[in-house]
This record gives sequence, structure tokens and C-alpha cells, in this order.
Amino acid sequence: MTTTAPASGTARPAVFAPHGRRTPRRDDASDSLTAGERARILAKSALFNPPDAMLPDGLRDLVGLSREELAAELAAIDEAPFRAKQLWHWIYHQGVTDFARMSSIARPLQVKLAEQFVIGRPETVEAQTSDDNTRKFLFRFRDKQEAETVYIPDPDEDRGAVCLSSQVGCTLSCRFCHTGTQTLVRNLGAAEIVGQFMAVRDAYSEWPSPKGETPRLLSTIVLMGMGEPLYNYANVAKAMTIVMDNEGIGLSRRRITLSTSGVVPMMDRAGAELGVNLAVSLHAVRDELRDELVPLNRKYPIAELMAACRRYPGASNARRITFEYVMLREVNDSEADARELVRLIAGMPAKVNLIPFNPWPGSAFETSTRAAIERFARIVNDAGFAAPVRAPRGRDILAACGQLRTESRRERVGL
Ligand code: SAH
Ligand code: SF4
Repeated sequence: MTTTAPASGTARPAVFAPHGRRTPRRDDASDSLTAGERARILAKSALFNPPDAMLPDGLRDLVGLSREELAAELAAIDEAPFRAKQLWHWIYHQGVTDFARMSSIARPLQVKLAEQFVIGRPETVEAQTSDDNTRKFLFRFRDKQEAETVYIPDPDEDRGAVCLSSQVGCTLSCRFCHTGTQTLVRNLGAAEIVGQFMAVRDAYSEWPSPKGETPRLLSTIVLMGMGEPLYNYANVAKAMTIVMDNEGIGLSRRRITLSTSGVVPMMDRAGAELGVNLAVSLHAVRDELRDELVPLNRKYPIAELMAACRRYPGASNARRITFEYVMLREVNDSEADARELVRLIAGMPAKVNLIPFNPWPGSAFETSTRAAIERFARIVNDAGFAAPVRAPRGRDILAACGQLRTESRRERVGL
């Protein structure tokens, strides 16, 4: 829990006073994007990977395997490659978890599969529904670690966003974020990331996966839950590849948004390999302030972050980059801040999502006033950028942006 953050008041807290930079600024942003830096991030991330998907009884979970890995598992029990295609269909299109229900597979093979494998789901420990029908799920994984997932239904139409967690806790400690007060326990595996989505689909009985233009209740995925997705890139990428596969869940990459606090070296890669929509948690337009609010800024300052956004593959007017900006009263909500924001994103296919700060127990900030938010939005709007104010959803059950946190701790790892 942050203890040094002051309560907001009229004067800007001293902690936000400008200070010297801890890392030298690099002149050419692209110079810093070495393969070495990416490799370091990936290697460090691997240290936090989940335990092996083999259960204590020797059964292996088939969820979260790539198509190739699934085929290899089947080859290992002397089954032909086409079986992988069949299983993929049952697992991800039909949502079946019981081999006995796989009618295109003969009974003896169903039995053989059940002796070797399971089609797993995280355990639902708790599901709470908010006044506005937002639903928060607390999922428990095999090693008893827990993460939260939120379903945010559209208030007017039969569709909604599923907000997935990518890690248990977070290594970063953004000052306004509840998850940031929980140190990173571990990464979620691909099975656990896809598993969150599938378990929410179970809860809403949305199987088989709707095809083509058929409306979906769970119509979009936002990687905006607990954790920093680009610090768990390998598992997130694998999970999204599974979710996007047309013979299974088949969710278009246009319906997936990955939110990052600014892990610059991984942004190009995510854009090139996954092509999902990008959201960037900006929250401050000057390095001095962003260094404090989003400490990752000390490593990848605003200029580098903006350069990475400008390079982001696939960004266009039809697919704009979203800049998330949490509105903190008298901290980052001045007219000058709004004008500087406009200057930073000038010429980019961008929109700005203004998020009124969602308080959580012990948080040290206040939400900007309605007038300050409107004034800020007007300046951004007048410059030609959409600047919707995100309506807080699920605040009463601590399901809104930045309110997620579980009691998982590192010492609880292990069955
Ligand atoms: N780690 C990633 C994704 C998860 S956070 C990231 O930071 O982008 C999803 C969004 O909620 C981020 O923009 C985050 O900055 C914002 N957020 C965090 N705490 C918040 C709070 N208390 N109120 C409102 N938004 C918050
Ligand atoms: Fe982590 Fe995102 Fe919260 Fe920052 S805002 S602490 S990166 S989850």
C-alpha cells in the first residue's frame, strides 16, 4: 500500500516536484529498441511463468496449447494430426469440457483422451454483480493464485467487454492503481488468460462461439485487468492467437485492445505480431509528473513512448490509438495539461479516454471535478480528437479501472 502519497488538496504535493532524471535521455528512440532489450524483458518475464500445466494426477490441460502443441500431444499418444483440428473445434468453438460430449469422436478415443487430458477452467471463487450489471469474477488457478476478471455489458445493446488480467499483481506501481499495491506474484499462463474468457462465456452460456457478424454478448476483449500485458508478452500473445483463431472463438483482432503503461520495446512487436488495438496509459504529459504517477516512465520517457505510438503498425483513422488519462484532481487536470496532451498526439490517429479516478481503500487521490473534466475534454475535442469520458462501471464492487486486487501472495505458490 502506498503510504507516502499525500491526500490531494489545493497545492500540488511536494512529491511531484521536478527532480533530476535517473536515466540519461536517449536521443534517438529507435536506437534503444534493441533486440537485446526485448530479449531481456522476455527472459525476465519467463522467471515469473506459471507452474507446468500437468496436474498432480498426471493429466494435462489442453486449454492454452497452440495448434502445434495440441497436435504434438496427440501424436504422443499415436493419434493423427486431424484429431487436433477436431479437438480445437470442440474446445474453442463448442466450449465443451467433457470428452464424452464430443460426438464426432468415437467412444474408445473419448475414453483414451479422458485418461490423458482435461479441458480446464479456472475455479470461480466469487462472482459479484454491480448495480450497473457489471460483473466481477474472482478466479482461482491450480496453484491457488487468484486474479479478477470483469464483464462490462453495454448499457444499451446486447454486447459487452471482457476485461482480462494478464498477471497476478503487477511489478509496476502506478500511484493511483490498486493492483500496483500488490507486488507481482506471477504471470498468468496462456491457459489462464484464455481460461478467464472461456469461464465468463460459460457464465453467460455463450457457446458455441458466434460466427461472422452474429452478435456476441462477450463482444470485445480489453487487456486492462490486473498486470502489465507487455511484461507477459509470450503468454498474452499465445492467448490472443488462440482467441483470434477462426476455427474456434474467432474474435477479430479489431475487437481486442491491449493496454500498456508504456513498455516501449515490446510495443512494436505486439503491433507487428498481433495487430490488436493499442491503448496507452499516459496519465501525464510532462516527464516529471509521469515519473511519479507511472514510474515506468523513468525507463521509457514520454518522447520514446510517443515515438513508439507513431510507429505502431496498423494504426489508422479507423483504428486509432487510445490514450488513457486518469483524471486526478489538481494533479494532472489543468488546461495547460490538456494543451500539452494535444501537442503530444498531434498528427496521430488517436483518441483520448478520460477516466475519472476510481478510488480504492487507502488511495491518496481525488477524482477531478466535473467542470475540470469537461474543460479538459473540450480542449482535446476542439483540437479534433475524440475525448469521451469513461463512465465509471462497477465501482460499488471495486470492479472499475484500477480497483482490482487480490490477496494472492508469493508464499502461497504451490499446491
Ligand atoms: N497495466 C496496464 C493495463 C491495466 S490498467 C496499463 O496500465 O495500461 C487499465 C487502465 O486503468 C490503465 O489505463 C490504468 O492506468 C487505469 N487505472 C489504474 N488505476 C486507476 C484508478 N484508480 N482509476 C481509474 N483508472 C485507473
Ligand atoms: Fe500495473 Fe497498469 Fe496498475 Fe500501473 S496501472 S500498476 S501498469 S496494472
